[in-house]
Amino acid sequence: MSRVEGGRPSPARPAAHAIARDLLAWFDARKRDVPWREERDPYRIWVAEVMAQQTRIDTVRPYYHDFLERFPDVGALAAAPLDDVLRVWQGLGYYARARHLHRAAAVVAERHGGTLPSTVEDLRALPGVGAYTAGAIASLAFGLAEPAVDGNARRVLSRVFDLEAPTAERLERAAREVLDAAPGRPAAVNQAVMDLGGAVCTPRAPACAVCPVGVTCLARARGTQDERPPRRRSAPAPPRRAAAALVTREGRALFVKRPPEGLLGGLWDLPGTSPVRVERRSPPIGEIRRALEAALADRHAITARVGRRLETVHHTFSHFRLRLDVFAAEWHAGEPAGEAVWAGAGQGGVGELATPTYLRAILPRLEGLETRRTQVWCLESRVSTEGGEAYGWQGASPQE
Ligand code: SF4
Repeated sequence: MSRVEGGRPSPARPAAHAIARDLLAWFDARKRDVPWREERDPYRIWVAEVMAQQTRIDTVRPYYHDFLERFPDVGALAAAPLDDVLRVWQGLGYYARARHLHRAAAVVAERHGGTLPSTVEDLRALPGVGAYTAGAIASLAFGLAEPAVDGNARRVLSRVFDLEAPTAERLERAAREVLDAAPGRPAAVNQAVMDLGGAVCTPRAPACAVCPVGVTCLARARGTQDERPPRRRSAPAPPRRAAAALVTREGRALFVKRPPEGLLGGLWDLPGTSPVRVERRSPPIGEIRRALEAALADRHAITARVGRRLETVHHTFSHFRLRLDVFAAEWHAGEPAGEAVWAGAGQGGVGELATPTYLRAILPRLEGLETRRTQVWCLESRVSTEGGEAYGWQGASPQE
C-alpha cells in the first residue's frame, strides 16, 4: 500500500526498471570526461579503479597515464621492483594500494598467465581486491552483472530504496535489482549509480529537484534523504608527534627504507622517533634531541650529533595527525642498519627515491649536497618489523 506524505505518493518499493531507464538516459547524455571510461582492457580498468579509491579523478589522471606508460601490462608490473612502483605512485597516498597492486600482478602473472581472471571469486582472491574492486572489474571489463558498491553507490541506493540499515547484503540486493532491470549494460549501470552519487545525490543537500530518479526515489518521497544512509561517526584523527633527523655525512643525507608493510611501507624516509600521542605540554627541545640521538643509535646503529631544528611539518594520515620536527644531525660513527642510502640532491640522488609527500618541505635542504648516492646494504638489521617496532614509527596501519 502507498503512503502519502506532503502530497507525494510513496510506493512501498521503487520500480527498478524505471530507475535503470532514467539513470541510463542521464548517464548516456552526460558523457563525463574520465580517461578510463571507454577502456575495456581489464588491467587498465583494475589500475584505474585502485587509483580512484578515496582519490579525486583530477588527481588520479596524471598518475594513471604515467603508471600505464611505465607498466603497460600485468607482466611489466609484476617484473618491476616495488621501488619503481612506489616512485610512480609517489604523492598519490594510500601506498598499500600500490603494494597490493604489485603483489597481485605477480599472482596474476604466475597463476593466470598474465591475464586478469574474469570471475568475482578469482578476482577477490587477489591481494588488495575487495568486493567493490572485484565488482567494478567484473562489470566494466567483462560485462558481468555484478554490483560495484562504493561510498557514492551506497548513498544513492540507501536513498532510492530508503534503506534504514544498508548492510552490505541489502545494498548488494538493491544493486542487483537495478542491474537486472538493464540487461547487457552492467558497466553503465554501475558507473551511473556512482556518478549520480558524486554529482547529484551528494552527502549534504542532494539536488533532488534535478535528479533523474527523483520520481522513483523512496527517500525523496518520504523526506528521509538526510537520514540515509545513517552517518558513520568517526572520531577526529588524534594528534601525534615525532622527530626525524637529516643526518649528513660527506655531503649526503641518510635515508632509510621503511618496512614493506604498514604505514608508508617501502618508502624511503628520514630516520627518527616513533609518533607518540601529544602530551599537554611540549617536551623541552633538549629532550627531543636526546630521544632522536637514542633512536638513531638503537634503531639505525649510527652515532650522530643532533643540532638545530630545520622544519616542522604537519601531515594528516587517515588515522592520526602528525607533527614532525626535523633536525639537522651530523654523522659521527657507525654504518646504518637495514636498507639505507646516503643520497644527495639532483640526478642520481634523492629524486630517484620514492619518499613520503611530507618530505617535500625538507628536500630543498639537500640543495648543495652531492648528487650521487651511495647505497648501503647492511647484512643484518637490528630493527624488528614484526613486533610493531619499525624505523622510527609504530602503530602502523594499512591505511596511510
Ligand atoms: S531524489 Fe534526491 S535523494 Fe533520491 S537519489 Fe535523487 S538526489 Fe538522491
